[in-house]
Order: sequence, then C-alpha cells, then structure tokens
Amino acid sequence: MSEPDDCAQLLGPAGPFAQLPGFAPRAAQQQMAAAIMQAYAQSRALVVEAGTGTGKTYAYLVPALLSGQRTLISTGTRTLQDQLFHRDLPRVREVLRTGGRIALLKGRANYLCLYRMKRARGQAQLRWAEDRLRAVEDWARRTQSGELSELGALLGDDREDEALARQISSTADNCLGSRCPDFEKCHVVAARRAAQAADVVVINHHLLLADFMLKDKGFGQILSGVDAVIIDEAHQLPDLAADFFGRRVSTRQLQELARDVLLETNNCGDLPQLAETAQRLSADVTQLEQLFIAVLGGGAARLPLPRFAQGPAQHRVLDLVGESLSALRQQLAPLEERNAELAAVLERAANLLESWNHVLDEAPEEEGKEVRWVEGLLRGGSLNATPIEVAEDFRRMRERYPGTWVFTSATLALGEDFTHYQRALGLEEADALKLDSPFDYAQQARLYLPRGLPEPNDPGYSLAVCNAITPLIQAGGGGAFVLCTSHRALRQIGERLGTTLRQRVLVQGQDSRSALLDAFAEDGNAVLVGTASFWEGVDVKGRALRLVIIDRLPFAAPGDPVYEARIEAIRRRGGTPFFELQLPEAIVMLRQGAGRLIRDPSDRGLLMLCDPRITQKSYGRRVLASLPPMPQLREAEAACAFLKEISA
Ligand code: SF4
Repeated sequence: MSEPDDCAQLLGPAGPFAQLPGFAPRAAQQQMAAAIMQAYAQSRALVVEAGTGTGKTYAYLVPALLSGQRTLISTGTRTLQDQLFHRDLPRVREVLRTGGRIALLKGRANYLCLYRMKRARGQAQLRWAEDRLRAVEDWARRTQSGELSELGALLGDDREDEALARQISSTADNCLGSRCPDFEKCHVVAARRAAQAADVVVINHHLLLADFMLKDKGFGQILSGVDAVIIDEAHQLPDLAADFFGRRVSTRQLQELARDVLLETNNCGDLPQLAETAQRLSADVTQLEQLFIAVLGGGAARLPLPRFAQGPAQHRVLDLVGESLSALRQQLAPLEERNAELAAVLERAANLLESWNHVLDEAPEEEGKEVRWVEGLLRGGSLNATPIEVAEDFRRMRERYPGTWVFTSATLALGEDFTHYQRALGLEEADALKLDSPFDYAQQARLYLPRGLPEPNDPGYSLAVCNAITPLIQAGGGGAFVLCTSHRALRQIGERLGTTLRQRVLVQGQDSRSALLDAFAEDGNAVLVGTASFWEGVDVKGRALRLVIIDRLPFAAPGDPVYEARIEAIRRRGGTPFFELQLPEAIVMLRQGAGRLIRDPSDRGLLMLCDPRITQKSYGRRVLASLPPMPQLREAEAACAFLKEISA
C-alpha cells in the first residue's frame, strides 16, 4: 500500500494529475487524500468536510485505487454514480495506471427482469403496451447489461412509461430470487456478481443501506468481504438510514401482493379459497386507501399513527386488513413447495405481516425508540415505524463490517464542530477533518443581509421578499436562483417574479428538474425559483449563476411526526432541541443552498439571505460563522453595485 504522502504528492504540482487539462493542484485536496490513505492504513473511521472546490472525488479515488483494498464508494444519486463511474474513475485509473476490476451497481429498478417481462406478455391489463413490450423483448435478446436506460425514448418518464417499467423490472418484494427460472440469466444477478467480484464498486446510499438490512435476500451481500466504504454526500445518510432501519407497509405493496396471489390462483385453477382471501385482502386495502383519502385529503401529508387510527371505524379497517393478510399467509403456508411463485408470495405475505404487526402492535420495548406514523401517497398511503435515532443501528453496521469508513461532504460540521453529525451516526470515535474551500470568497463573493424585512411569519413576508429581491435581480440582469423553504413561498414568489421581471423566470414544477437547470444554464440571464431539490446537487458554473437568494432560514416545518418525535426525545433527556437538532440541521441545509453560488475559481457572485432573524437573534452569529468568509453588505445600493460590476 502507498504511504499517505505518496497520495498527496500524486495530486501535487509535480504529480501526474497536474498534467491533466484544467487540473489545479490544491493543498486541501492533497491533505484529504493523505488523511484517507492514513485511515486505510489503520482501518479507521474518518469524517471529512471538504469545502466546495476541494476536489474531494479525486481525493478519495486516489487512495481507494492505490490501497489495493476492496472498496465500496457510495454516493447520493444515480446521476452522481454515473459521473463517478463513467467520468472520474476512468480518468484517475488512467493517470495512476492501476488495474483491478471496477463495477457500477444500480438499484434493481434499473434492470430488466426477464421473468416479469415474460409474464407481462399476454396480460390483459398491459394490452395497451403490446407494441412496446414487443420492442422490449427484441432489445432483451441483444442487451448485455439489461439496463433499462438503454431503451432510451421507448421508456421515457411519463406515467405510462413508468407503469411499463414497473412491469418489466423487479422489486425486492416480487423477485423470486434463487427460485426464479431465469436466475442464471438474470441481469440483476449478473450486476451483483460483477459488483461482488470487483475491487472498487460504485453504489448509492439506498443500495448500501438495503444491502446491510438484507432487503435483497438470496443475492449475497455486496458489503461482505469489503475492506473500505467511502460515503460521499454523507450529510444525507442519517435521514436515509432512519428510513431503512425502520419498517414500512404501503397499501400499494398489499394490493400488489393480493394481485400476484390472484394471478397464481388463476394459473393453478384449484385454489378457490385462496383466491377469495386475496380478493378480500384487496377489498379491505381499498377501504384503507379510502381512509387515507378521508383523513389526509389525498395529499402527501404525514400524521402520527395514533391520530390516524383514533376512531372505531379506523380501527375496524386496520383490523380487517390485518386479519385478511394473516389469513392469506396461513393459506399460503402449505403451498410453499408447490411452485416458486407461491413460495415467493408466501415469503412476501409473511414479511408484510411481520411489518404490519410491528407497526400496529403495542411494542413496549420500542417505546421511546421508534415513532409510528402514516403518510398519504398518490393512492392510499403507508404505515411506518421509524427509529428516532439511528446511531445504534449504524454502529452495528460498522461493527459487522469493520474496516475503513470514510464519510465526506461539503457540509458536515457546524463551524469546526462535528459533534452533531458524529452523534447522529454513532461516529464519536472517528477522526474528523475540516478542509476549507480553496476559493477566495473575499474576492469572489459578497453576502448581503437586507434591512427592514418583516418577521418570516408575517403574512406579507413573501411579498416583502419579492420587493427586496427584484432590484437586485434587475441590477444583475438575472442569473439568479431564488431558493424557497416552502411550496407556498415558491408559488407566491414564482408568480410575482413571473409578472414583474423581464428576465425568463423558471419555476419548479413547470418542467423536470434537469430540464429547468438546462434551460437556466443555457439562457445565461434566467431566474430559477425552486425549493428543496434545488438546494443541493446543483452545479451551475460561470456567469449564468451570479446571485443566490434564500428566502428564510430553512428550519424543518413543524408537524412531521418523525421530526417531532426526535424533538421530544431530546427534551425527555433534558436537552435543548433547538440547539441540538433544529438549528444544526437548518445550518447544514443553508450551507448547501449557499454552496450553489461559487463553483469555480473564476466564479463571482452575491448571496442574499433575506431572513431578518440572522441579524436580530443571537443564534444568527452561529449561522453566519458557518458560511464561507464573505464580506458583508447591508445596503441595497452596495449589493446592486456589486452585481452590476460582476455582470458587466
Ligand atoms: S431473479 Fe428476480 S430479478 Fe432476476 S429474473 Fe428472476 S425475478 Fe427477475
């Protein structure tokens, strides 16, 4: 294995990377690579905050490739996986001249399921897609990887396409696993085998957590035999882990189970009682779907389970579903040996029943550890049990897979302090390293804190924000992101700017996220108004983005049952939820949003934080201290003058 200093030198001015076009050696990048190599040498856990522009991808790829250890690299999204695997990894391998096998593994929804494709043929409910199914079958004979993305326009992103994609791909629920007649030719199996045999595997956080939770039984774990795990975009992990470490049963899962059992009873022809039970389950779940609509209004709202299930009518519906599911499982049990399909639906019914009972039963041992809640979905909803804290489970995960663990992101610390992040994942003993961005914020950027805006809970707040930001957008000639903290503010601000500005105003929801971002970058002077999904993972370099406006501090909206339970748990142990949870999380999110502004050493821009609490409340100092060191402006004239200067 190479020494930490070797990694630093390779990325230094005299190293081979310096020959790459556009590569600038950065001390922070070299320091990060050396620290990761050190973590490899000692099998340690390391948490690294790498400010924007550090070049953290190369900083972990170099030690990962030189270590000779089997490494999983997990990132946040499929797009980032693709970038890492198809762009960064090949470049670094070429420079280092390293061999070894590499693999990209995506979630199973990205691969063709041969078994389900064959079953889809001739199904009455898919008659509308007959032509496209034939084209899929034609492609299936040629494809090596089975990745559905190869189908291009044949599977776009409208609802019909999504419905078809669901029919020809598998879920952990409906996959037959080793019982499948197509197991040996299966694309999911092939992709996982390639990943298990590779030295470096690029996966995503969902797969990593599902793998640990053994959600894909019968496929062998990717994590087993791994020496190191590098988690990029690691700020996303605590929330995602809570989803995976909990239990969830959705009305859709139950309806799909009932439908698949019915399909089997039709094929067998001699199981009338089972068919009747499946129909009863479906009818009971339909009642549950109606209950979701009645209580949650058909929206994506969340409620604590006790509030959802508080009347006798609600109890009755939940009891009926539980009884039908239990009866279905019982009737399936003696049929396990009959065929693979019946064995698979039995396993699904048993798993769903276990989760159903877990979510709905009184479980005193989980009291105070889990929160039970429901969520409305497009049709129906889900019932959930989510751990309030994930540190214990995550610690267990690292104990089961000991070795090197690296967690990195541009936003993990509060000032110099990593306690919030380390505590959330049980990483108290991990080494921590904070590397500031190499950008010259004092030269490149300004922070503008306007005067005179009302309190954010004032009914006229969004209008006042519009009035305050309009002159700035005009002074800069557009090139602005307006990041909102709620859909209500998004609508109000989007509508208002759309009627007052002469620049092109793009509002989240008008088109897909990527189409809006492409249009924004191409226009060069547009204004994009967005909420949550635009706060992170957006990389617009250059003049097209020169002004980032944040309407208010991104405190989590009250009312989310999981969040409320976390607040309550902190209170119970005598802590202060505001300083231990709400403020730290708002700061991480704010830093993500602010991080959109300067993406390159030649970028220049202004960050405007509208929320008056930043200057009026004592915690405002902590907020400001967490941002890159930008000169502050308080007067609109000065902010406009700066924008005119950088837009000229
Ligand atoms: S093993 Fe699962 S994913 Fe593979 S073909 Fe069979 S059902 Fe589909």
